[in-house]
Amino acid sequence: MKREHSDGAAGLAAAARRDGTPAAMAGPATEAILALGTRHLYPTYPRPGLVLEKGLGCRVWDTEGREYVDLIGGIAVNALGHAHPRMVAAIADQAGRLIHCSNLYHHPLQGALAARLAEISGLPRVFFCNSGTEAIEAAIKLARARARARGEEGRAGLVALLQGFHGRTLGALSVTSQESYRAPFEPLVPGVRFVPPGDTEALRRAVGPDTAALLIEPVQGEGGVRFLEPAFLAAARAACDAAGALLVFDEVQCGLGRTGRWFAFQEHGVMPDLVCVAKPLGGGLPLGALLGSEETAGILGAGAHGSTFGGGALACRAALEFLAVVEEEDLLARVRGTGQRALAALRDLAAALPAIREVRGRGLMIGIELNCPAAPVVAALRGRGYLVGSCRGEVLRLLPPYTIDPGLLEQFATTLGSVLRGETA
Ligand code: PLP
Repeated sequence: MKREHSDGAAGLAAAARRDGTPAAMAGPATEAILALGTRHLYPTYPRPGLVLEKGLGCRVWDTEGREYVDLIGGIAVNALGHAHPRMVAAIADQAGRLIHCSNLYHHPLQGALAARLAEISGLPRVFFCNSGTEAIEAAIKLARARARARGEEGRAGLVALLQGFHGRTLGALSVTSQESYRAPFEPLVPGVRFVPPGDTEALRRAVGPDTAALLIEPVQGEGGVRFLEPAFLAAARAACDAAGALLVFDEVQCGLGRTGRWFAFQEHGVMPDLVCVAKPLGGGLPLGALLGSEETAGILGAGAHGSTFGGGALACRAALEFLAVVEEEDLLARVRGTGQRALAALRDLAAALPAIREVRGRGLMIGIELNCPAAPVVAALRGRGYLVGSCRGEVLRLLPPYTIDPGLLEQFATTLGSVLRGETA
């Protein structure tokens, strides 16, 4: 405490600039915001000293008035960009009617949203929650309750993939393989087996009569933007059918239009029993959902699971509007077209630059694997006005809004080339 006081606001703000952003880049107002956060927030997020205060379309502005092209989109949340006029109007209108009434009562929007999600997914049952992690928790609980309801007391096990990411609560973390996320919190939920993605034999061995559910991201997002092979997904379906286990697809990051289809699994025609979605669903408001087959309908009975905020009126209204905009503006086709142009530009760049090992992508879910650490490249791109993410140390991750102008992504490819060649701006 004493030390922090003697360091003063500037010291705290400097501590917040973990990426070494030069002090000259931040004015006193920005410094004060950073200092407060450093003093009072748990330092869970290693982040640069960048304070965003405004967004419009695919662009955001920081407190210093600098403009950025937002290619990470709130980690796949801002699928319609920032301040989309229809989202702003729908949220404002609903805020004036009913924001929240809890799940003690009905409101007019939950059923309507569930029906729309059922229509686009082919899964007729929906449980609403507030995040991707909570959707995973619901899936795990449902899978266990199903086993118990069938008198299969021994069927409590879970199978997941190495390099997968499903969230940070104890259940979701238990099916997330990354050691550094898990170690401080052990013991986690027992009975979880991990299988290397793509290893069909290992998958068949792991899924058995004690397996309640197999959880898979059809595209591993945090795991480096890795697209699982259709044959592996089909083998997952077959293994679950043979063992009597539920197949859960985690489409929290890759779902709801990101890959140019409503769901990534629809590309390959492998139908899961449960699907978890969140991120873009609420148009920036927290909303997650577990979508399930009719066979699972009776399992989460009265009182079996719940959430105070889940499926709130405001979030549901935003979600209905988000889904309507995607449909009416034909954004799935646009995502596919824009993604193709972006991938072509990035692959041309990769062919000319050994610093790029591989470009992976479908629609607007794009990973650029480098031959060097991604963090300094992310920082350099920020300096040139582009916000991008990174994962697994050497992969740049792009999750831009579905509405982005393809030309912006081509310009980004040019800038990335310049950064990787070490040219000065
Ligand atoms: N599942 C996947 C595939 C994710 O990418 C994430 C978050 O990045 C989660 C689950 C957790 O979602 P949330 O952060 O909304 O809890």
